[in-house]
Order: sequence, then C-alpha cells, then structure tokens
Amino acid sequence: MYVESVEDAELCEQVRAGDSRAFRLLWERHVAMARQCAIGCTRGSAADAEDAVSDAMLGLLQALRGGRGPVGNVPGYLRVSVRRAAARTAARRHRELPVAELPDLPASENGCRVTAYFDAACAREAFLGLSEQRRIAVRLFALEGKGAGQIGERLGIAPPAASSLVYRAKEALRAGYLRHHVSPADAECADVMDRVVASLRGRSVRRHTAAVSSHLHRCAACRERGRQLRDVNAGLPQRVGVK
Ligand SMILES: [Zn+2]
Repeated sequence: MYVESVEDAELCEQVRAGDSRAFRLLWERHVAMARQCAIGCTRGSAADAEDAVSDAMLGLLQALRGGRGPVGNVPGYLRVSVRRAAARTAARRHRELPVAELPDLPASENGCRVTAYFDAACAREAFLGLSEQRRIAVRLFALEGKGAGQIGERLGIAPPAASSLVYRAKEALRAGYLRHHVSPADAECADVMDRVVASLRGRSVRRHTAAVSSHLHRCAACRERGRQLRDVNAGLPQRVGVK
C-alpha cells in the first residue's frame, strides 16, 4: 500500500528488501524526468531515448537489488545513468539484436511496462554477453531463419557443428537472461547465483551442492533471489539433453 508521500529513500530501501512494487512507484515517479533528460542526450532519437531510459532504470533496479544505489537523490542518480546509457546506446545499436526477436524468451507480461523493460534489458544483456560466434549463430537462426547448413557455411563450420552451436547459444542466452535478473553485490552471493542458474538450467552442480545449501541457509537475500529465478525460469523452455 503506497502513497505519494512515501519518500524516495524509503522506496529505495523497500526495493533493496526485494519489493518490486516499490520500484514500480519509483519508476512512475521519475520516468518522465528521465525521458526528458534522455531526449536531450540522444539528439531527438525517440528510440535511443527510450533505450537510455530503460537502461538507466534497469541500472537503478539492479543497484538497489544488489544493496547499492542512491540513498536519497534518485533524480540526480537517474540523470547521470541516463547520460551514460545514451552514450553507450549509439555505439551498441549496430550490433544489437532486436529483443522481440530473441528465440524462446517469454513474452513480457501485458500491461506491465516495468517488467517489460526489465525483461527486455535482461535479454539484451544476455545477448551481448554471448561470444561473437554465438551472437552470429543466434542472429542467423532467429532473425534470418537460416538452417544449420547456411549457418555453418557462413561461419566456416560443418552443419552438425552449426546445429550444436545454435543449441548451445540459445541455452547460454537463457542462462544469461536468468542470471541478469539478479545482481548481488557480494562476490560469494554472485557465485551462488551462478550455480543456482546452472542448476535451474539442468547443468550438474553436484560438487557445489553443500556450499550452495549452506549459503542459502544463512543468506535470506539469496533465498529470495533463488525464488525469483525459479519463477523466471518456469517461463523458459526447459533444457532437454545436449545434442
Ligand atoms: Zn547470498
């Protein structure tokens, strides 16, 4: 139950504690300002401005979820983030795959722009985190509808290798997409989240099971992150054995 009089600082604390509704309120409160700032930084390109706003908002959410981010001045924090994001956007545009075309990622929930932006940004980060060869394979497969033969020809590898590359690239994309939903600041928490993602995606983490369980037992934040990851993973295609 939120009212307009709740201070930004208090909302930030609530987001740090895992409350996504508090983030939605922060978003609604500051998005118009962020957009105005972005339009000023992107020389009138509406698409670039929207990208810069969503990047800045994602950065804010990730920082808060990681226990960092602004303590007070949220508008000031966002203005700096928007300017940085706008500078990155132009450089990135030419190598970006339109998020809507990424294969097998869940459709964003209707009517929730925060979720939609967040999901899109996670997908984009996951795509950019792939090796160049995997990015090319996913792009050819998903955007251009190429088969293994043509992908192999383009990359100079045999069709079975191309087929396996596409499979592994798509799986890496899903794991990366999941992983970008949580961003703990602590290195041990980050390691544990990597293993939780691996385990959710069906990779063996048996030798780390004891360490992961013991961490989850004492870290409430990671237990909550684990729950979020399981929810997101439930919307993804499940892994079915390596070809
Ligand atoms: Zn932890």
